[in-house]
Amino acid sequence: MSELSRAWVALGANLGEPRAALNRAIESIARLAQCRLVARSSHYRSAPVDAPGQPDYWNAVVALDTGLEPLALLRALQQIEQANGRERSFRNAPRTLDLDLLMFGDISLATEELTLPHPRMHLRAFVLAPLAEINSDLQIPGHGRVAALLPSVRDQLIERMD
Ligand code: ADP
Ligand code: MG
Repeated sequence: MSELSRAWVALGANLGEPRAALNRAIESIARLAQCRLVARSSHYRSAPVDAPGQPDYWNAVVALDTGLEPLALLRALQQIEQANGRERSFRNAPRTLDLDLLMFGDISLATEELTLPHPRMHLRAFVLAPLAEINSDLQIPGHGRVAALLPSVRDQLIERMD
């Protein structure tokens, strides 16, 4: 591995055994080629956004250093989703595992397949709270420091589990 980039990934699950699915996914991410897990947050539970009546989500975020390109990392994450039984049925459908690439170094891009930074990350307590736990000084390009964004999502129900 020569040039390493720091990448941030959000994990979410609300079907089956969400806690176990998150742990399995983190192990899979740690084993990806050209990737090294740098930090992982606690588990959090959050109420589903725009999906009334669905089970609560379990969420976490991880940081990794990777020699992969952004799209290669996204596709590797999608393979982990598939291996965990993810079905893309409809928008905001409940899911056994959702892996979103939040940021990749300081890269900004907007293609159909990949937008960086993730366009909704600064709006979601289930992203900001676990990110603040592992690096509250983190800057989200265009939106500022994670810790400074937290007050704007304080009406979203979220609970740290461990
Ligand atoms: P969501 O996570 O928004 O609920 P999906 O997980 O089904 O929905 O993702 C839908 C599409 O979003 C994927 O096909 C993927 O190519 C695209 N996408 C764009 N930017 C990103 C990103 N930063 N992380 C993950 N997926 C992304
Ligand atoms: Mg996703």
